[in-house]
Amino acid sequence: MNMKTFNIGGVHPNDSKLNADAPMQELPIPKQVCVMVSQHLGAPSQPIVKKGDKVKVGTVLTSNDAFLSAVVHSPVSGTVNKIADVIDASLYPKPAIFIDVEGDEWEESIDRSPEIKREINLDGPAIIQKIKEMGIVGMGGACFPTHVKLMPPKDAKAEYLLLNGVECEPYLTCDYRLMLDHAEEIMIGAQILMKALNVSQAIVGIEANKPKAIAHMSEMAKKFPGISVQALKMKYPQGAEKQLIKALTGRAVPSGKLPINVGCVVDNVATCYAVYQAVQKNMPLVQRIVTVTGPSVPQPTNFLARLGTPVSAFLEAIGGVPEDTGKVISGGPMMGKALANTEVSSVKGMSGILVLPEKQAHRNTVYPCIRCGKCVEACPMGLEPYLIASTSLAKAFDLTEKARVMDCIECGCCHFTCPSNRPLLDAIKLGKSTVGKIIRARNAKN
Ligand code: SF4
Ligand code: SF4
Repeated sequence: MNMKTFNIGGVHPNDSKLNADAPMQELPIPKQVCVMVSQHLGAPSQPIVKKGDKVKVGTVLTSNDAFLSAVVHSPVSGTVNKIADVIDASLYPKPAIFIDVEGDEWEESIDRSPEIKREINLDGPAIIQKIKEMGIVGMGGACFPTHVKLMPPKDAKAEYLLLNGVECEPYLTCDYRLMLDHAEEIMIGAQILMKALNVSQAIVGIEANKPKAIAHMSEMAKKFPGISVQALKMKYPQGAEKQLIKALTGRAVPSGKLPINVGCVVDNVATCYAVYQAVQKNMPLVQRIVTVTGPSVPQPTNFLARLGTPVSAFLEAIGGVPEDTGKVISGGPMMGKALANTEVSSVKGMSGILVLPEKQAHRNTVYPCIRCGKCVEACPMGLEPYLIASTSLAKAFDLTEKARVMDCIECGCCHFTCPSNRPLLDAIKLGKSTVGKIIRARNAKN
């Protein structure tokens, strides 16, 4: 098999794709959901419902006039109980809409029939408008509003649509499951995006540890002109945007530039499926597949669940939190966030819930840096992580900026590879957020 990959750095964590071939299960709808008002990268949204309002599945709950924004729809039918701040996965208080569930009534405009709708009737601008109205965002975790990616600046032209089916984070299998169960809908979603972008080529990148998905998607792609599937070598972070572009097209996205500057638009396969549902079925983003897994979880499972479902409901469905649990993480072990409590609710970008045992959850003793250079070798962005971390901790942020902290993609390869167990990523994130503020203030002044 001809396999490609990116050319700088990367690491090889154990992939731990536990029980990936088990069928997907539908999680029962909880008695109450807690829907985060903003579930996207960009300007925060505002609620447009109030306590006591009746909603159906698909009723619009928020509004937002900003360019970089996305609306949220009700994932259940019932009555709005309250709007209040809750602690989300990032540990900050954010507004949420609590809805008491009554039945399961959907907006009449949504087509819930099982038939696959193959003919694409909308033109490019109407597709973009529909994707915006349905609240579609990047479901790989970034939550970038999808309609914005379809409107390149005037000086840029898309040539390739790249579909991310890599799922390089250990443990996560939700995209794998989706590629096995809904390959045709993903392909139609790709055709829709190709029409909106006016491109003739799409490449689906899938890592070599998913041979069934590669075979199934390749077979399906034969029916879709312009779409091909490329097997990729297993190497983390193969699914990061810039690394995927390099592997699939050989193009390098320069520092400070976007994929569109090298003619590429990247979308996750789950986003592509959501685009199919939005455009062909008029279905807003109200549910997603979430992997619930971990070494001590008796039966790791992929659940189709309504957004706003508390993490505790997922854990109940797998028989409760295993006794040896040390940490519950939203996402994978490399880029996920440890949860402060299990009442945090699922959102559009939540791909997995990882339950780690105590022995894997604690931090090892930190030793001084031995200047071994392993973090530099591992960095897929060609950075010097030890330098960024040390300048950040010393609050020498001018040096942190010079060391190109803003190019860091927070993949954690440096942290993973350090023999001294230095908490490099924590220091780098601190530096990145401070330098980001300094740059924004400087730009505002100029
Ligand atoms: S977290 Fe940042 S500095 Fe560390 S390896 Fe990844 S890109 Fe490089
Ligand atoms: S890998 Fe760790 S010990 Fe080695 S140079 Fe980097 S920070 Fe220092």
